[in-house]
Amino acid sequence: MKISKKRAKILLVDDEPVIRETLCSILKEDGYDMFTADCGSAAIAYAQENDFDVAIIDLKLPDIDGTTVLHRIRELNESICAILITAYPTTDSAIRAIQEEAYEYITKPFDIGHVKLVIKRGLEEKHLAHENKRLLKNLKSEKRKLETMLQIGRGMSSILNLEELSNFIVQKIIDVLRVKICSLMLIDDDEETLSIKAAVGLDDTVIRTTKIKLGQAISGFVAQTGEAVLVSDIENDDMFGRTNLPQYETKSLLCIPLKVKERILGVINLTDKAIVGQENIFIEEDLRFLTVICNYAAIAIENAQLYGEVKNLAITDGLTSLFNHRYFQTHLQTEVTRVQRYPHPLSLIMLDIDAFKLFNDTYGHPMGDLVLSQIAGEIKKTVRRVDIPCRYGGEEFSIILPETKLDEAVYVAEKIRSCVEALRFVTGTGPKKKKMTVSGGVAHFQKGMSKEDLVRNADVFLYKAKTSGKNQICVHD
Ligand code: GH3
Ligand code: MG
Ligand code: MG
Repeated sequence: MKISKKRAKILLVDDEPVIRETLCSILKEDGYDMFTADCGSAAIAYAQENDFDVAIIDLKLPDIDGTTVLHRIRELNESICAILITAYPTTDSAIRAIQEEAYEYITKPFDIGHVKLVIKRGLEEKHLAHENKRLLKNLKSEKRKLETMLQIGRGMSSILNLEELSNFIVQKIIDVLRVKICSLMLIDDDEETLSIKAAVGLDDTVIRTTKIKLGQAISGFVAQTGEAVLVSDIENDDMFGRTNLPQYETKSLLCIPLKVKERILGVINLTDKAIVGQENIFIEEDLRFLTVICNYAAIAIENAQLYGEVKNLAITDGLTSLFNHRYFQTHLQTEVTRVQRYPHPLSLIMLDIDAFKLFNDTYGHPMGDLVLSQIAGEIKKTVRRVDIPCRYGGEEFSIILPETKLDEAVYVAEKIRSCVEALRFVTGTGPKKKKMTVSGGVAHFQKGMSKEDLVRNADVFLYKAKTSGKNQICVHD
């Protein structure tokens, strides 16, 4: 591609018509766009209307002194290249020329070749200065982006909690791209919808309730195809055109997929770009930069997701999905330590399936497994979110109940017992379903107790329930 160079604009101010005419015609021949003025006020008026590259000013003008003219023009056009000419060079005028940052000071009579050379050099320097300024600005912005990228990289590799990580990513993007609204959406477990995991600039209810079907709207499209979308004007977009929603200030938006290899995890949406003094429209460069961030982010998100899964696996029992024995022990210790320091109620329920060996022996182990997971499901349904239901061992369950008094815990245990009693379990040998029961013991934390004391107490009452005929809950009276 050939780039046509703009013709440089030169303002020539001199009251001598001969100088004006000769210089003007010679410089015109060299391809400059020439403007002439015979006095200072005419020159200033010109400078108000035009953006000159060069001003050649005679020091002695009929109305205003040449350095004053330069001073006024400089106020209008900071980067102008000024050449002062004079027939009466004095130290004083030379000093003023320097003060007004004149590029060159030429004395009359001058050599036209010299003037041409000065103009050429002046223009080159002006161009270089301009280019430097532009590069410096770019460099600053690139530096900021690189620093952010580094921070993001560091932060991402150290954050394993998915929620914390999502918030971190959104915040960093907001900081570096200066947008008002940013949201990070991930594909849900059902593999059919996207929900917001972190956002800035959106209403809390919107964050909690938004669900986008894959393939629907822009984010759904991006999550399905894995292709980024940059919309400059939503109201005039061929593919996604629609009226701009009232919550958005600008009509430009960006949506980038979060991809690891070919697997799409979600998307990042950006709207309301708000850079002062620039158009609020996303450009290719924003897209490129965000794509790099999203590549990092996707890996970090996948890591956090895997870490979450592994963490869950480490604390849950595979058959029943209840917490496992190890988690029970550590969590109970935490709770006991807490109530030893700050007295709060804490209860513990131990449950054991009645005559489970017989069931296993009669119907087989796999049927027994079904009973175990069904009873576990019943327990999960009955307890509160803060309670910790665990598989203590084989066919024994334990439930830690923080902030729960003894009578409340007995109520929970009794409820589980009666629910299990009401259930009928398949046996695999026909339509006949079997009734199963559980026995339970409940203990309550008392001052001076250890974790072991609490477990032993619950066990003692469980044993009492077994020896008193099973299918009952026993408690210290
Ligand atoms: P009690 O009423 O006195 O509790 O009698 P019980 O038969 O329930 O108790 P016992 O301790 O004699 O037997 C427990 C049985 O639980 C024995 C074992 O085969 C069975 N069991 C333990 N873990 C599992 C499991 O993961 N799956 C199945 N299917 N059975 C299990
Ligand atoms: Mg048993
Ligand atoms: Mg047992």
